[in-house]
Amino acid sequence: MNILVLNCGSSSLKFQIISTDEVAISNNTDKILAKGLIEKVGTNEAAISFKSLTTSSGSTNIYSVTKPILDHKDALYSLMEWLAMPTTIIDGISSTKDIDAIGHRTVHGSESFNSSVLINASVVSELEANIELAPLHNPANLKGIDAATEVFGKDISQVGVFDTAFHTTMPEYAYMYGIDYDLSKKHRIRRYGFHGTSHRYMGIRYRELTGKSITNTNIISLHLGNGGSIAAIKNGQSIDTTMGFTPLEGLIMGTRCGDIDPTIIEYIMQKEDKTLKQTFDLLNKKSGLFGISGISNDMRDIEENMYEGHNRSILAHDMFCYRIKKYVGAYLSIMNGADAIVFTGGIGENDSIIRHKICNDMDYIGMSLDKSLNETTIKGIEGNIAHKDSKIAVYVIPTNEELMIARDTYCIVSNKKILETYCALLL
Ligand code: ADP
Repeated sequence: MNILVLNCGSSSLKFQIISTDEVAISNNTDKILAKGLIEKVGTNEAAISFKSLTTSSGSTNIYSVTKPILDHKDALYSLMEWLAMPTTIIDGISSTKDIDAIGHRTVHGSESFNSSVLINASVVSELEANIELAPLHNPANLKGIDAATEVFGKDISQVGVFDTAFHTTMPEYAYMYGIDYDLSKKHRIRRYGFHGTSHRYMGIRYRELTGKSITNTNIISLHLGNGGSIAAIKNGQSIDTTMGFTPLEGLIMGTRCGDIDPTIIEYIMQKEDKTLKQTFDLLNKKSGLFGISGISNDMRDIEENMYEGHNRSILAHDMFCYRIKKYVGAYLSIMNGADAIVFTGGIGENDSIIRHKICNDMDYIGMSLDKSLNETTIKGIEGNIAHKDSKIAVYVIPTNEELMIARDTYCIVSNKKILETYCALLL
């Protein structure tokens, strides 16, 4: 089955076309047929960059152009045109008719969705009701659904895969905040957590690599990208995570501040004569690595400057790792120990310096890294980088949220219960 995976942001549209089915899921032979990105949607200078991948002839086709793209519908029409071009050669696909179903990355499912779901009118209403919880993300996801319905027709099956769904297993004492109970319930104020599709993939891939059962999956999953979060996964289920009501809580990220005392917000507003919106812009877009270093939100730049002795970059690096280490300790404690910690995301997958700094001085749990494996496990390589004598495994697993979305979509569209399909295979 050919699945179009869509990730719609407010001014961008990313896609992959993935061929998958039950055999592919069990043998890990799903294929990415094409992928692409349209940036600056809604402007006269939208940047389109599409690429066809696996073809039997071994050829790839790259299409790169700048042109006006009015909105997400326009963006999908340009994908439709590209698929129909004679120069675009993709195995089994010559037009949008060859797309069997669409899977949408959907950020906020709130308490309504604890797994992926076939999108229908009532799901759309529920997503609309959740806009107040995710004003930056859910409107773009809804635009994507609306655009796909227009471009592909109302009969195409569409599935929503939620960043929050994996974390709906958190116990109440973990997801509640220490504020007035009635207020929490009235306004749905609680920890939701994000990056759930990535953390779920960490559990599944860890089981594939180790042969463990779902009930023996006790890992701490560290998704460290521009945004970052950690999940405590006990018996295969998320029992706590660092992002909260919004993605602002938890780790120090590229531009987000992570945990702070809420009183700081009022204090900044008073001292700097800023509005609430300006203050939140500061905390979301100009804090974290960027705000501390004053240089960049990109870890590669931070490290380059750190080696040149730039004090604020050294501080940003130290703070980034310290916050992560603190959460790893906390999660080891609530889980009564873990079998592995798992690194993913652009930083987790590539940065051996960060991995070393986080895993160093963890003698109290007998954790140690194999120096050489740590340094060579980068750029898409996966595996256990712990020293052979380490009492706890340390995995690097490149994340693959698109694959999860394609597989969930296949399972739902073909009426296969997700848990039965891929967890049963891996038990
Ligand atoms: P996003 O959250 O936007 O998906 P990614 O998972 O792509 O982000 O991660 C982006 C981050 O990964 C950037 O901060 C970048 O610094 C970091 N990164 C990518 N490659 C490397 C590398 N080789 N070494 C260190 N950091 C890297």
